[in-house]
Amino acid sequence: MGKILMKTPLVEMDGDEMTRIIWKMIKEILLEPYINLKTEYYDLGLENRDRTDDKVTVDAALATKKYGVAVKCATITPDAARMEEYNLKQMWKSPNGTIRAILDGTVFRAPILVSSIKPLVKNWKKPITIARHAYGDIYKDVEYRVGGKARAELVVTGDEGEIFRQTIHDFEGPGVVLGMHNTDESIRNFAKACFNYAVDTGQDLWFAAKQTISKKYDHTFMDIFNEVAAEYEGRMKEAGISYMYTLIDDAVARVMRSEGGMVWACKNYDGDVMSDMVATAFGSLAMMTSVLVSPDGCYEYEAAHGTVQRHYYRHLKGEETSTNSMATIFAWSGALRKRGELDGLSDLVSFADKLEQAAKATIEDGVMTKDLINLSDLPEKRPVNTENFLREVKIRLENFL
Ligand code: NAP
Ligand code: MG
Repeated sequence: MGKILMKTPLVEMDGDEMTRIIWKMIKEILLEPYINLKTEYYDLGLENRDRTDDKVTVDAALATKKYGVAVKCATITPDAARMEEYNLKQMWKSPNGTIRAILDGTVFRAPILVSSIKPLVKNWKKPITIARHAYGDIYKDVEYRVGGKARAELVVTGDEGEIFRQTIHDFEGPGVVLGMHNTDESIRNFAKACFNYAVDTGQDLWFAAKQTISKKYDHTFMDIFNEVAAEYEGRMKEAGISYMYTLIDDAVARVMRSEGGMVWACKNYDGDVMSDMVATAFGSLAMMTSVLVSPDGCYEYEAAHGTVQRHYYRHLKGEETSTNSMATIFAWSGALRKRGELDGLSDLVSFADKLEQAAKATIEDGVMTKDLINLSDLPEKRPVNTENFLREVKIRLENFL
C-alpha cells in the first residue's frame, strides 16, 4: 500500500522536554510509515526560541494564519528557574500566549474518553468541551488596595471629552477595588468561534453568565451571544444542534446532571476554573486535548498538558518513563483530519479516525501508561513504557488500515 499524500503543508511546531521526545516517536512510529508527511517545521524548543529572539514563535503563528492548520508540541514557559537552566537572554513570553494573540483565537479543550475509565461524575457519557474566552476580565484588570477612608469612582473619558463618573464605594476603612474591561469585538469573536466549533463538531452550545447581577457587563456578553446565535440559526438547524443561554450557577447544575456532549462556552475566569474541574472529573490531564480556533477559521491542535518535566529528567538519567502520549497523538490526528477535510483528502481523514480508534483500543485492551493504571476499572491491566505504548498503538493501527 502506498503512503497517503498530502496537498497543503501542516504547520508543525516542535517543543520541549518529554513531549519533544514523544513528538519524534509519534512521527517515526505512527505517522511517517503511512503518510508522506508534508509539514512546515518550526522549532519552538526553548533553545531555538532564545536563539531567534522568539521570532520563530511569531513565524509559526503567521504560518498558521497562512496555511490554516497547525499542530503544536508542549513548550516551556520560562520562569526564573528556566532562565538559569537554559541561560536565556530574556524571560520569553508563553508561546501559547503569543500564538493566541496573533490568531485572536479561542481555546477548546475536550477529554478523550475510553470505555475502561469512568468519569467521576457517573452520568457523564460524552466529552464536555470547554471553550474559554481568553481575553480581558480579571486577567487584564487594574487593582488598588485602599488604605483607609476614601472614595472609589469609576471614570470613563470619551474621545470627545465627555465624562462618565460614578461612585463605586465610599470606604470608611481599608479595602480593595478593581477595574476590568472587555470589548464587544473580542466577545463577538469568541461567540463566533464557539458557534463555528459547535456546528463543525455537531455539538450543542451552552453559554452562561450572571446578567441578573451584572446588568451591563455580563448582560453585554449575553446580548452579543444572542446576536451571533441569530446569525447562526440556519447552520445550527442544519447541523441538528441548539444553543442555550442560562445563568452560570444554573449551567453548573445542569452540566453536573447532563450526559455531556456539549460545548460549554465560558467567560475567562469561569473557563479557567471549570476546565480544571472537568479535566479532573474525566480522569487525567494527560487525556485532555486542546485546539485553538481563530475567528477566520485557523486551527492549532495541541495537548492540554505541559512538557512533563519530571519524566524528562528521569529520561535524561537513562531511567525508563511511562509518559502518556494520548493527547499528543490526538493533536496530530486532529490536525491531520482537519487538513484532510480542508484539502478534500478522504484517505487522510480516515487515517486520522483510525489512529484515534487504535489509540483508544490500546487502553481499552488494558495496555496503558502508568498514570492510567489506577483510573482504569479493567481487571487485567498491563503498564507499558513510553515507547511500547506507541508500538502497541501501531499494532492495532495496522489492523485497522
Ligand atoms: P505538566 O507538564 O502538565 O506535568 C505535571 C504533572 O502531571 C507531571 O509531572 C505528571 O505527573 C503529570 N502529567 C502531565 N502530563 C502527563 C502525561 N502526558 N503523561 C503522564 N503524566 C503526565 O506540568 P508542569 O510540570 O507543571 O510543567 C512543565 C512545563 O510545561 C513548564 O515549563 C510549563 O511552562 C510547561 N507547560 C506548557 C504547556 C503548553 O505548552 N501548552 C502547558 C502547561 C505547562 P507525575 O510526575 O506525578 O507523573
Ligand atoms: Mg486553571
